[in-house]
Amino acid sequence: MRENTALLEFLRERVPEENILKREPMSLHTSFRIGGEADLFVRVDTKKALSDILRYCNRVEMPYFVLGRGTNLLVGDKGYRGVILQLCGEMEQIRIDGDMLTAGCAASLPAVAKAAADQGLSGLEFAAGIPGSLGGAIVMNAGAYGGEMKQVVKNVCVYDADGEEMNLDNDTMEFSYRSSILKDRPFTAVEVTMKLSPDSKDEIFARMDEYSRARREKQPLEYPSAGSTFKRPEGHFAGKLIMDAGLRGLRVGDAQVSEKHCGFIVNIGQATAEDVSELMEEVQMRVKKQLGVRLEPEVIRVGEF
Ligand SMILES: Cc1cc2nc3c(=O)[nH]c(=O)nc-3n(C[C@H](O)[C@H](O)[C@H](O)COP(=O)(O)OP(=O)(O)OC[C@H]3O[C@@H](n4cnc5c(N)ncnc54)[C@H](O)[C@@H]3O)c2cc1C
Repeated sequence: MRENTALLEFLRERVPEENILKREPMSLHTSFRIGGEADLFVRVDTKKALSDILRYCNRVEMPYFVLGRGTNLLVGDKGYRGVILQLCGEMEQIRIDGDMLTAGCAASLPAVAKAAADQGLSGLEFAAGIPGSLGGAIVMNAGAYGGEMKQVVKNVCVYDADGEEMNLDNDTMEFSYRSSILKDRPFTAVEVTMKLSPDSKDEIFARMDEYSRARREKQPLEYPSAGSTFKRPEGHFAGKLIMDAGLRGLRVGDAQVSEKHCGFIVNIGQATAEDVSELMEEVQMRVKKQLGVRLEPEVIRVGEF
């Protein structure tokens, strides 16, 4: 994208100057620590600005991508031609009324889980160690230890491509394993209301502690990654298949099948998106050939490779 003066002027009228970053390395915004430059990276701090910017981008056919916390993404080495939008400010707020919790989609999922626990509300213990935003968790129907977002969501407030507000209930969200209707639609999730259940604070915190201990024990949290690289194939565990195929520790450049948990590809130094892509293809090919199971990526590819 060449310098787009009209877009920049439009943005400057809606978000503070310091929230508009040009040629921003996406490696600074992804848990993999991988990704080339985005033409523009914009932190949008109000709902009104978000609605205006979405409408504008769609009207002028400016490509945009709504980033959560970048914990499920592989951004290409050549970066992103267009605008990356990251919600913040007004959309980070969390409020609780009885057993209903409403939070903006920029809130971090662990912060939302902790706010619920502090009020003695159960239902989000599984989410305490998932490092994304609430928005990303809704899009992906994030889940762990038998819990998933689908179990607690009542309503999701989204903006459509024209920046118009719509409210989607749980059924309309079409939640399924690591997916929801938002994965294929040009909707931006803005705010989520969840129904939780009152429970003893001590027990809620004990469950959260138990899950985070299990994560620390089993997952390679010491290296950058995007969590599970592949979805769980019906009747199998991706990590076990990869281990059984003898691929533990397999490397392409600095991308490696984790020695600790084969379901994770980790960046052990200066891995590129190309390294990770090549390693993913190699793993898929060998697991298919040796065990007859097709692994489907969970990690989402974004931008130019
Ligand atoms: C160490 C580690 C452990 C993990 N463990 C788990 C786990 O146990 N369970 C699990 O399910 N996942 C896990 N993940 C993966 C990841 O954290 C989740 O998928 C998370 O929900 C992604 O949220 P995010 O904000 O980072 O989204 P991103 O990665 O930034 O984006 C993911 C998708 O959501 C879209 N998106 C984000 N916000 C919005 C919005 N407001 N509106 C519209 N679209 C939006 C993006 O466009 C993109 O398509 C793990 C990741 C890591 C690094």
